[in-house]
Amino acid sequence: MPPAFKLVPVDGPANSVNDLLRALEGFDQRILSVLQDMKLNSLDHIPQKTQKLWTDSTTTCPHLFPSDECWLRTPPTSSELILSTLDTFAAQSQNQPGNFNVYRRGEFSDVDPRTAIAQLSNPNSTAAVVIAGLRVENLPDNILTTPEALSEFVEPYEHSNHQLLLTPKFAHTDIHIDSGDGLSVPMGRSEKIWLCFPPTHHNLELLSSVEGRKATLVRIGRSLEGGVIFRTTAEDAVYLPVGCLHTVFTLVGGFINTLDFVTMESSKTFAAMFSSGLSQLNGSSVFETECFDRFIASIGLAVSHKGVAGAVLAWLDAFERIRDYAAGDKVWRREATKVWVRFLATDSAKKLVCPCGARESFPEHFRAEHLWEKEGRKSCENVTREPNIGFSMKLRVRRKRYRDDDEVKGLAKKMKKS
Ligand SMILES: [Zn+2]
Repeated sequence: MPPAFKLVPVDGPANSVNDLLRALEGFDQRILSVLQDMKLNSLDHIPQKTQKLWTDSTTTCPHLFPSDECWLRTPPTSSELILSTLDTFAAQSQNQPGNFNVYRRGEFSDVDPRTAIAQLSNPNSTAAVVIAGLRVENLPDNILTTPEALSEFVEPYEHSNHQLLLTPKFAHTDIHIDSGDGLSVPMGRSEKIWLCFPPTHHNLELLSSVEGRKATLVRIGRSLEGGVIFRTTAEDAVYLPVGCLHTVFTLVGGFINTLDFVTMESSKTFAAMFSSGLSQLNGSSVFETECFDRFIASIGLAVSHKGVAGAVLAWLDAFERIRDYAAGDKVWRREATKVWVRFLATDSAKKLVCPCGARESFPEHFRAEHLWEKEGRKSCENVTREPNIGFSMKLRVRRKRYRDDDEVKGLAKKMKKS
């Protein structure tokens, strides 16, 4: 099938919002008409007011980096990747433990996974097949990292959950939020258009109102604020800040890597997500657990890197929700207690004034009013004066979850039961 439209060049004035929307010709007509009505800014020209929506609600706005800088060794070529992907498919079809999921139209599918590879040269505008969560032999985790230039905006810690996605042209993921800060690194000819929205209170409430439903973009797209649109090629690695609402369209099919991490500034956005109830997306406990794990990892980083004021605010903001969650996850509760108790034993904790307005000594006050337990007092005595919280705390190894599958989780549950 020849391309249904002519691709616009990526550089120069042709990269205006209208040109980007024109490049989406051939995608679902209902989506395109919503896009026409949306207020979107190109990533290069974000007005100050919109910029503020991003910096107030999360770490920063999305950023692009040269994808070259993410590779620690020469990555495999597209042909090599296709061959090792086919090997992975063959292994799974022989009932070896599988490591990927197949989606069609955003839902789990039992279609032959090789269809996705066939669609790289013969795309299907109404039934694109996407493979997520791929792990192939010639693409080990230690080959990929975050670019150094990312540190200009955020400092990434705890790299985890490296996965490979195979998305042919016409693949589209509806609006959703991932469970942390993330980097996407394309391979081969892959080209995509991204629409991203900051996790403001307004946007989180909107997304929360359509939880568990399909066609999220069509339902709420026109009402979202702070939207930016940009196009990526194989040259561009994308940083999406924590909480970023996003929807992605594949213009040129190919492979893309995703990598999650934590920053010391991420906790305020998690707190906003918890308060909006979004962390319980489709009743998925995995998403919720990942968010809470990264939340406390972010707080651990913040209190050991002079970011404690933000961490305390985030904790207080979402405390009711945090207490509810902790009641059902003892491992998490212990970890969270440890992070705070260690910090409360330090000299810098003694100098703090609680944002709730209390004038008492911060360590005693925080433990009495903003933590849940009395058992913390005991372990407090055993803590050294020089905590090294963020670095020593590793995220728990969790059941594997695929990025970008939030919108199909309800269905996933059903499939598992049947
Ligand atoms: Zn207080």
